[in-house]
Amino acid sequence: LSDRLSGVFDKLTKQGALSEEDVSLALREVRVALLEADVSLPIARDFVKAIQAKATGQAVTKSVTPGQQVVKIVHDEMVHFLAGDNANAGELKVDNPPAPILMVGLQGSGKTTTTAKLAKRLTEKNGKKVLMASLDTQRPAAMEQLAVLGTQIGVDTLPIVKGENAVKIAKRAKQQALLGGYDVFMLDTAGRLSIDDELMAEVEAVRDVASPRETLLVVDGLTGQDAVHTAENFDARIGISGVVLTRMDGDGRGGAALSMRAVTGRPIKYVGLGEKMDALEEFHPERVAGRILGMGDIVSLVEKAQESIEVEQAEKMMKRMKKGMFNMNDLKAQLEQMSKMGGMEGIMGMMPGMKKMQKQIDDAGGIDEKVFARQIALINSMTKKERANPKLMQASRKKRVARGAGLEVSELNQLLKMHRQMADMMKKMGKGGMLKQAMGAMF
Ligand code: GDP
Ligand code: MG
Repeated sequence: LSDRLSGVFDKLTKQGALSEEDVSLALREVRVALLEADVSLPIARDFVKAIQAKATGQAVTKSVTPGQQVVKIVHDEMVHFLAGDNANAGELKVDNPPAPILMVGLQGSGKTTTTAKLAKRLTEKNGKKVLMASLDTQRPAAMEQLAVLGTQIGVDTLPIVKGENAVKIAKRAKQQALLGGYDVFMLDTAGRLSIDDELMAEVEAVRDVASPRETLLVVDGLTGQDAVHTAENFDARIGISGVVLTRMDGDGRGGAALSMRAVTGRPIKYVGLGEKMDALEEFHPERVAGRILGMGDIVSLVEKAQESIEVEQAEKMMKRMKKGMFNMNDLKAQLEQMSKMGGMEGIMGMMPGMKKMQKQIDDAGGIDEKVFARQIALINSMTKKERANPKLMQASRKKRVARGAGLEVSELNQLLKMHRQMADMMKKMGKGGMLKQAMGAMF
């Protein structure tokens, strides 16, 4: 595929803005790539269509060929789409003990395995006391399977009582979790070979007695079209809070990820990478996007292209700042830049007048990658208008933005304050001609 894409991209014009034809030609191949990766047809079509509109007319950045430009757009869009506002992939809502986690999905999708993998992760990584319960009354061996895994990873399982139905087991799990002082209890439900009403009714009844904090849909990453159907049904009937894609260690290209995201809009939380108990990792949109596109060598071209684009962005930003313009988009670009540079202390030391801000950041918990990531998430959660004009951020908007980023309003307030101070400083420095000096040190 890479060869085919490269061939097409070579044919693209070498200058100016991307013409509709340039983009169409490239996207035709992208569409084939998506279908080969098992993305369902309507979703591949929609995705390509959205990019067509976005890419056409975009300027081709200096020192970047139109082909690279299209790759960059496709790749970035896919990463963006897969990630959504999922700044906290890999985090589950497990406060307020005992927090119920409901695991749902078709038979053989990997529910039981994933239940145990997650329990292990919650125990070891988050220090939670976890109880697992199998609600799979269909196959007696399924209950044994979970008990065996529990012993293997050192996580408790609810004792098996013959003859109970799923709802009864769920109730007993809840009670046991309360009595036993567990932080989390996980309910591993029974699957069916395909969606049926009986399955849905049972899961619904379990959901109603358990009131889960998280309902995770486990989907076989090797399925394409079917995955869409499954996700649609589970989300409509049960309401899911996230997706786990299993078997991403196989040869499949993982198109299900794109389908899942498109159909449910729910975040992909984890990816299963094997049968072993530690073969679970949090979702990395870049990895999955790269795999779906099957870009291989083109990815490195994209990266090179991005470097030159970054230089241009920095120059553009400097021009804006000189004019005293500094909105949330500028701040975001700067945060991303700083985050890449791996630390702000050095940069701040070089910038005159930054001492005050340093203290504020220290007060906010110091500087680390996570602060940047959270601040970027907050900005991402703002509308275009709000980013361009942060003065719009009044109480109700603040609440919405903070909630969107899964963070507290207080943290948003800190960001806004930091932005105000930086904007003031930019203005002053712009006038005094110091900006160029300071920015020169930064970029
Ligand atoms: P359930 O019916 O949904 O509970 O599915 P199971 O958890 O019993 O898994 C079915 C099979 O898939 C088992 O043999 C698992 O070891 C295997 N499996 C689960 N997750 C993964 C994964 O991420 N990668 C691979 N290669 N196999 C997996
Ligand atoms: Mg099972």
